[in-house]
Amino acid sequence: MTALLLASPYLFAGLAGIIGLLVGSFLNVVIYRLPIIMQREWRKDCIEYLQMEAEEEGEPFNLSLPLSRCPRCQSPIKAYQNIPVISYIFLKGQCANCKNPISLRYPLIEAFTAITSTIVAWHFGYTPQAAFALVLTWVLIALSFIDIDHQLLPDSITLPVLWIGLALSLFDVYTDTQASIIGAIAGYMVLWTIYQGFKLVTGKEGMGYGDFKLLALFGAWLGWQTLPLIILLSSLVGAVIGITMIIFAKRDHNIPIPFGPYLAAAGWLALLWGNDINRLYLTSAGL
Ligand SMILES: [Zn+2]
Repeated sequence: MTALLLASPYLFAGLAGIIGLLVGSFLNVVIYRLPIIMQREWRKDCIEYLQMEAEEEGEPFNLSLPLSRCPRCQSPIKAYQNIPVISYIFLKGQCANCKNPISLRYPLIEAFTAITSTIVAWHFGYTPQAAFALVLTWVLIALSFIDIDHQLLPDSITLPVLWIGLALSLFDVYTDTQASIIGAIAGYMVLWTIYQGFKLVTGKEGMGYGDFKLLALFGAWLGWQTLPLIILLSSLVGAVIGITMIIFAKRDHNIPIPFGPYLAAAGWLALLWGNDINRLYLTSAGL
């Protein structure tokens, strides 16, 4: 099997795509449920802290329980109705029981996860780099959509993945340890400084602490050398999309736009092509 995957990049990329579909289906669950789990825990903590009377424990709610149900008719979703993308097409985007429309976002996230996984597998080939890059890709997809929905990048995801980046540097997977440690510190510091400066000048909070941790994560994974590129790319994409939304969707410019997805997209591009882009830039600058 290993020899086969080593020999055929098509096979490995295809396999990664299929795994990506299944993982995408799980990411849908994480994106929807993790913020609810977190809110329940905060609530519990607050009640405990304020020494209020504890609420009755409801039925368990975690990533595996309760089983997925139609939000309208509560009919359970059967395994064959839960096949990524295919079930959505087969069910014509409706609940099999009550015809309640199913959000198009679910199959889109599944397809998106499959496509990005295929690209990662194709880019790195059958290597340890590919395996960890796939995990990071999946994490970034979950983070981005949670941030879009809740303006929140959960510490329970960003921090452990940051540690993983530091650990990988011990084996020089993407960068060396020195670049990784400096990257983690610099990533956090840069955005923290921008945030404080922005707050001082405008009195507004331009981003959240989750964004600092996400850039620290990229610094740990890819080394400090990629940070300028990630900041440049994310601001560029963020500005273009932000301005487009203000002009075309007449979005109030005071409504905060989550920065996490732009950082995630820029970091992902740097994961795959960061070295190439940096080299291209340095050569064209004559350095
Ligand atoms: Zn239903």
